[in-house]
Amino acid sequence: MTSIPLCRFCKTPLTHTFLDLGAQPLANSYLTAEQLAAGTERAYPLHVRVCHECFLVQADDAVPADHIFDADYAYFSSYSTSWVAHAKRYAAAMAERFNLGPESLVVEVASNDGYLLKHFVEMDIPVLGVEPTANTARAAVDAGVRTEVAFFGEATGRRLAARGDRADLMAANNVLAHVPDIGDFVAGFREVLKDEGVLTFEFPHLLNLIEKVQFDTIYHEHYSYLSLLAVERVLRSRGLRPFDVERLSTHGGSLRLFCCHMGVGHEETEALVALRAEEHAAQLDSLDGYVGFAPRVAAVRDSFRAFLAAEKAAGRKICAYGAAAKGNTFLNYCGATTDDIAAVFDASLAKQGRYLPGSHLPILSPAAADELKPDDLIILPWNLKDEIMGQMARIRDWGGRFVTASPETRVVEG
Ligand SMILES: [Zn+2]
Repeated sequence: MTSIPLCRFCKTPLTHTFLDLGAQPLANSYLTAEQLAAGTERAYPLHVRVCHECFLVQADDAVPADHIFDADYAYFSSYSTSWVAHAKRYAAAMAERFNLGPESLVVEVASNDGYLLKHFVEMDIPVLGVEPTANTARAAVDAGVRTEVAFFGEATGRRLAARGDRADLMAANNVLAHVPDIGDFVAGFREVLKDEGVLTFEFPHLLNLIEKVQFDTIYHEHYSYLSLLAVERVLRSRGLRPFDVERLSTHGGSLRLFCCHMGVGHEETEALVALRAEEHAAQLDSLDGYVGFAPRVAAVRDSFRAFLAAEKAAGRKICAYGAAAKGNTFLNYCGATTDDIAAVFDASLAKQGRYLPGSHLPILSPAAADELKPDDLIILPWNLKDEIMGQMARIRDWGGRFVTASPETRVVEG
């Protein structure tokens, strides 16, 4: 008998399923030819539940954390041009809004290869990156971004503060969902943030995931799926509170939450109040907001399977674009294999020559599309749709079509 897991924040037994995707390989574990031939790939349950006390939506702890981080980490932030532009705009906006200068300190947690902090360095604003993955941290240091290799949490936060690294601005982009102990992680910010400092969290908004059926953003490396409601509870429990929010188009709909110490006088903005009301209207503060998601996900899968079957019957060649985690969840849940899709193209040199986990599609350079000449190109990272359609526009020369698969499978017109 398996025991019922406890909420990773409030420790309530998790008796309600949000979505059970079955056994899945790690979405970022791209296989070499030797690994593929050895047949040793492992799959772990991917079961997401909702806590009926604090409404934190969370995945079961099915994978030891060191397995996830041991996975050959092939992701470098700077590879996506739209993400780099997003980081640059953020740096300029924050420097202006919070009057940052040579006396300030900006600390980013999960700073990756310095894709964000380098824009502050260019403005002569001191920075510190905290990054657990050694090879990405090295890339940041090479780019002139001071970086500490560490996992962040309360202990690391205390250590940094004790040696004088206290921040006017802290940023954590797309990392809050990746931490197993969200309470300890948030406590680290409280330690490092100066009394009047501001911290911003960016995370994909759970309400978008539900409304747009973005189940492909669910994978083992994401421990939680976040609403304002759940994040605010975690923040307040650790002496922090939100005061403003911006809505971003990244990852299909993200929030940028502005937070400060509990006792600091930032007034709550109308945007924050409106978002709370919106989540209440969507019933995210009761179980009613979460039931009914799983059948909608099954319908997306059925629509995609029907599309693949029809295209195959018509003798059309199907390829995909984007060897990203979200595509892997989608393909594996849909049961897609090389019988259905010939290859996936991706611009990342680190991924080319490897194979997608689970589906085992070969990852090829985008240039290979000119030889394969796919009739259909499925865009897996739908958040980068416009960028990918621009880069691969030439498939239309031979009559190729772009296809998106979420929230329903459809050919992109025009
Ligand atoms: Zn809970």
